[in-house]
Amino acid sequence: MTRTVYVNGAYLPENEATVSIFDRGFLFADGVYEVTSVLDGKLIDFEGHAIRLARSLSELAMRSPIEKADLLEVHRELVRANRIEEGLIYLQITRGAASDRDFAYPSEDTPPTIVLFTQNKPGLADSPVAKVGIKVISIADQRWGRRDIKTVQLLYPSMGKMMAKAAGCDDAWMVEDGAVTEGTSNNAYIVKGGKIITRHLSNDILHGITRAAVLRFAREAQMEVEERAFTVAEAQGADEAFFTSASAFVMPVVELDGQAIGSGTPGPVATRLREIYLDESRKVAI
Ligand code: PMP
Repeated sequence: MTRTVYVNGAYLPENEATVSIFDRGFLFADGVYEVTSVLDGKLIDFEGHAIRLARSLSELAMRSPIEKADLLEVHRELVRANRIEEGLIYLQITRGAASDRDFAYPSEDTPPTIVLFTQNKPGLADSPVAKVGIKVISIADQRWGRRDIKTVQLLYPSMGKMMAKAAGCDDAWMVEDGAVTEGTSNNAYIVKGGKIITRHLSNDILHGITRAAVLRFAREAQMEVEERAFTVAEAQGADEAFFTSASAFVMPVVELDGQAIGSGTPGPVATRLREIYLDESRKVAI
């Protein structure tokens, strides 16, 4: 089955969808994105992703080419057309294609580019990886200073993933001024004495939509949460560790820089939070 994608107002087979070589997403990484997960053919936390998208656009003085209600309809149509039961929807908006390459933003009447496509991921929720956990390494955080804006400048996170792979691991946690900021594409957590610790929100990290939901569910379940920075040594000495993202939900982390965390297997808090997150998110999926 050929995948149907959405480009600038049209639903097209993926091999007929094109974007200009002058597109500022391509030339300057002048674009933002969102990834929304699909479970049971429904969207998880569409509202949260739409709100963060609007904020990313606003921080970059970029106008949206689409209203929220229409954006929801495009998401749903792509899920229908591609028969996605479990998977992801990728959305990208760029400042569009000016007529030439110029660092200055093009005039306001340049239409933004919007692209959406689906990724079919059967078995996303019942992930075998979540049952054993993943291994991470720590690397220096060498990204720019506005990590709260979800831009498509993802080269350093890609490099981080490759560094992790080269070390026989699955992901990297980035470290700045002695403290973990976040994973290459996820928010990082440790658990010590029953308390869930994750870095506080600032421009230093992406404000994860999954993070917000997981912390809300944790507090509702009377779990203690502390939002503060933590070090690699503290993580290595923790009882548990995990990360969150829209594409992996809650994922146990069992090793950091070659050192087992806790028992070296997924801990009870991460396991329970994953279950709660999946159950509660499914109930309100749209
Ligand atoms: N931090 C970074 C750097 C990310 O790329 C992501 C995923 N896009 C996250 C955190 C997690 O955010 P979310 O829960 O909204 O997917």
